[in-house]
Amino acid sequence: MTQKKLSTDVVIIGAGIAGLWLHNRLNQMGFHALLLENKTIGNAQTLSAQGIIHGGTKYALNGILSKATQAIGAMPARWQACLAGNGDIDLTQVKILADHQLMWSKNQLSSKMVSFFASKALSSRMKSVPKSAQPALFQDPNFKGALYRLEEPVLDIATVLQSLVEPWQNRIIQIDTLSWQQIERHVQSIIVNGDIEITAQQFVLTAGEGNQALLDDLAIKKPAMQRRPLQMVMCKAKNPQQALPAIYAHSLGSGSQPIATITSHLAEDNNIVWYIGGNIAENGVGKSFEKLTAEAEELLHNILPWFKLPELEWATHTINRAEPKQSALSRPDTAFVESKNNVHIAWPTKLALAPDLADKIIEKLKNCSLVAGIHKEVTGLPTATISPTLWNSKFK
Ligand SMILES: Cc1cc2nc3c(=O)[nH]c(=O)nc-3n(C[C@H](O)[C@H](O)[C@H](O)COP(=O)(O)OP(=O)(O)OC[C@H]3O[C@@H](n4cnc5c(N)ncnc54)[C@H](O)[C@@H]3O)c2cc1C
Repeated sequence: MTQKKLSTDVVIIGAGIAGLWLHNRLNQMGFHALLLENKTIGNAQTLSAQGIIHGGTKYALNGILSKATQAIGAMPARWQACLAGNGDIDLTQVKILADHQLMWSKNQLSSKMVSFFASKALSSRMKSVPKSAQPALFQDPNFKGALYRLEEPVLDIATVLQSLVEPWQNRIIQIDTLSWQQIERHVQSIIVNGDIEITAQQFVLTAGEGNQALLDDLAIKKPAMQRRPLQMVMCKAKNPQQALPAIYAHSLGSGSQPIATITSHLAEDNNIVWYIGGNIAENGVGKSFEKLTAEAEELLHNILPWFKLPELEWATHTINRAEPKQSALSRPDTAFVESKNNVHIAWPTKLALAPDLADKIIEKLKNCSLVAGIHKEVTGLPTATISPTLWNSKFK
C-alpha cells in the first residue's frame, strides 16, 4: 500500500553525469524533474572517469577523422562556455586540472604521422611543443621524442558533480527499491521504497549499467546494452615528499591507441595519484593485482625511461563502461537515446558528451508534448550524497 504520493513532470533514474546534466537543464527550463539514485551520486562510471573533455583527437591517431571524431569535436568548446559561466550549466566553480593535455612519443614519430598531425584536419587540434615550452618532466636531455599539446581540458569530476548537485539538491532523492506501474506499456508512475508513489509524464533511464535491470523490469528488449570492462591502475609515491609530477598526457606507441593515458589527482594526504588508462587498462581486465601493477610499473619505466620513479604504492579499479550495444563490442560513436512510449533510455557513451545527450533527450521529451505542471516540493525524503573519489578510497 502506498503511503505517500508525489508528482513531477519528469523522473530521471541514475545520478551520474548523464542524469545530473539533464536534471539541471530541465529544472532550469521551468520543468519539475526528480532525479533518483540508489547508491551515491557519481559512484559508478562518472567518478571513475579521467575527467578528459575529449574533442576526439585520440580517436584520430589511425590517420582517419571518423564519425566519432566529428561528433565529439564540439564538446570542448561547449564545456569551456560552461566553465566560463556562459554555457548551459554554471560550471564556474569547477576545478580545471589542466587546460590542455600532452601527447608524447619517446621516439621520433614516423614521417607519415608527423604529416598527418600537421594536416589541415588536425593542426587546429594539436600543436608540437617546442623544447623551451616543455614542462619539467620533458625538459630532460634524455627525452629525445616528440611532444604535442592537445587543446582539450581535464576537469576535477568531483567538483563538476558539486556544481551539478547544488542548484537542485532537494530534487535528488536517495532511493532503495523501485517498481513500475504501467497501463498498456505506458508508465503511469513508479513506486519507490515500497510505499512512495511518484507520478510523472515522462521517465528517463540514465542509470548506466543499471539500465539493464530497469529494461528487464519493463520487459524492454531493445535497445540492448553492452558492457566494456576496464581495469584501471593508480599509483602514488610512498613518500609524499617525493610526489609524482602532475601530468595529463597520452603516451603514443606505433599503434592507433595511446599505450597509456595518465591523469593526476590530488588525494586528501596532499599526494599526487597517477590514474592510468589506455591499453594497459583495456588489457588489464581479469589480471591479478600483482600481475597488473607489475606490468604497469614496467610500462612506466618503458614510456618514461629518463624519469626516476620514486618508490610507489599501487591500487587498481575495475569498472564496466555501459553503452548501447554495437556489433563486435566496438566503441559507440555518439551519445544515445531511444524512446519506448514515455520511457527514454540513454547512455552518453563519454562523459564529455553529456551536454549533447541532454539536448537529444530534451528534444525527445518536447516531441512527447511535455508540459510544465505545478508540483509540491519534496519533503521528508533523504537527498542523495556524492560518492568519495577513488584517490581517497582505493589505497588501503
Ligand atoms: C575508467 C573510465 C574512464 C573514463 N574516462 C573518461 C574521460 O576521461 N572522459 C570522458 O568523456 N569519458 C570517460 N569515461 C566514460 C564516462 O565515464 C561515462 O560515459 C559516463 O560517466 C557515463 O555516465 P552515466 O551517467 O551514463 O553513468 P554512471 O556514471 O554509471 O551513472 C549511473 C548512475 O545510476 C545509478 N543507478 C543504477 N541503477 C539504478 C537504479 N535502479 N535506481 C537508481 N539509480 C541507479 C548508479 O548508482 C549511478 O550513480 C570513462 C569511463 C571509465 C569507465
